[in-house]
Amino acid sequence: MKTIIEPFKIKSVEQIRFTTKEERKKIIENAGYNPFLIRADDVLIDLLTDSGTAAMSSDQWAGIMRGDESYAGAKSFYVFENAVTKITGDKFIIPTHQGRAAEKILFSILGGPGKYFASNTFFDTTRANVEFSGSEAHDFLCEVGKHPEQRAPFKGNMDVDALETFIKKYGKENIPLVVLTVTNNSGGGQPVSMKNIKDVKDVCKKYGIPLFLDACRFAENAYFIKMREEGYADKSVLEIVKEMFSYADGSTMSAKKDALVNIGGWLSLNDEELAMKCRNLLIVTEGFTTYGGLAGRDLEAIAQGLEEVVDEHYLKYRIRSTEYLGEKLIDAGVPIIEPPGGHAIYIDAKRFLPHIKPEEYPGQSIVCGLYIEGGVRTVEIGSVMFGKYDNDGKLIPSVMELVRLAIPRRVYTQSHVDYVSEVVIEVFKNRDKLKGYKIIYEAPMLRHFTAKFVPI
Ligand SMILES: *Cc1c(COP(=O)(O)O)cnc(C)c1O
Repeated sequence: MKTIIEPFKIKSVEQIRFTTKEERKKIIENAGYNPFLIRADDVLIDLLTDSGTAAMSSDQWAGIMRGDESYAGAKSFYVFENAVTKITGDKFIIPTHQGRAAEKILFSILGGPGKYFASNTFFDTTRANVEFSGSEAHDFLCEVGKHPEQRAPFKGNMDVDALETFIKKYGKENIPLVVLTVTNNSGGGQPVSMKNIKDVKDVCKKYGIPLFLDACRFAENAYFIKMREEGYADKSVLEIVKEMFSYADGSTMSAKKDALVNIGGWLSLNDEELAMKCRNLLIVTEGFTTYGGLAGRDLEAIAQGLEEVVDEHYLKYRIRSTEYLGEKLIDAGVPIIEPPGGHAIYIDAKRFLPHIKPEEYPGQSIVCGLYIEGGVRTVEIGSVMFGKYDNDGKLIPSVMELVRLAIPRRVYTQSHVDYVSEVVIEVFKNRDKLKGYKIIYEAPMLRHFTAKFVPI
């Protein structure tokens, strides 16, 4: 087999800036050892997130020029609506400025005190929007999904029996919606099988509860189904995508992921009465129904991105380039969540730094180590992000201590990825020298964005 190549050539380039190790030590110290507080210009390879960081194609840029900026009924809205309908099959398509805006609208209307929502794993903004409405959010991830070292094809699946037990316990009338996150972002970018989507739908149908997809990475999920699930090898990705959405009653979407754009999202649904309520709220908080907080040009770029993301040469390269980084790290003995997910590699910081206890934030230590060693920016997903304190002010650590290396879409080449693996492996070889960290400042909510640290 020949090398899987980037299925594009490069027309416009963006310079990245080299710094020395000595400079980076100063920069990270000045940023309170928090990579969110570093200027992007001081980063060589930025793996902080895959959200809104995609490189757009020349056809998407052409769409930007075509954008119709009419306030109401813009041509670009209908181009967008067609493209989203082609994927979701849903009747009502509501544009929003990003995923969380769609969530805010949906859960403000369906949520409220005394209501319960279930998911394989709620993404953090989704959970926040459920809880902000006064409702509870419950995760029912399948057992294998909770074990980073175990390999399985669909570790993002929902535990269907646990869902049914939950529905019986809280009562179907108190459960307005079940959400399947595809792929499961918080669970390591692991896919959900078609069988699981169908099984979840069957339970929802039995109790008359709608099923929505948190569809951010629908195309990556579909490609995993094609590769790994029996009966799908010969189907096109678009056919698989349509089947996935056919079991759902609606979707929320961050176009900053699998629509290959830098901003945008949608809420799609089939229930007319609910759609009218959502549109009315949209007008109050986001904008008129045919632009929803976006410019006409953004709607064009999303529509074109949706064509490109289901291209199988693109998805083959996308999934393979993440796996390629994963394999290099596994070969060098670096502990990661296996198998690699679609959009990111997750280093298991507990196994990487067994000498640093959760109270001293091993993930943060690796994040700082990677930046100092090679100017690579990553993010801690562990006790810095999810840790809470008990009444005595003692840390209740997160279940897992992870470091996420998210891969922006179409941005970095194979040699960039090789470089990243070299940096990780170098830090791994010198792991005994890494130290734990102590928090010296933190905000009351979402502390990981602004916390400041000192090495112990
Ligand atoms: C990014 C993301 C969201 C939120 O989307 P934003 O555009 O960042 O508001 C919701 N769910 C999942 C699974 C995501 O990855």
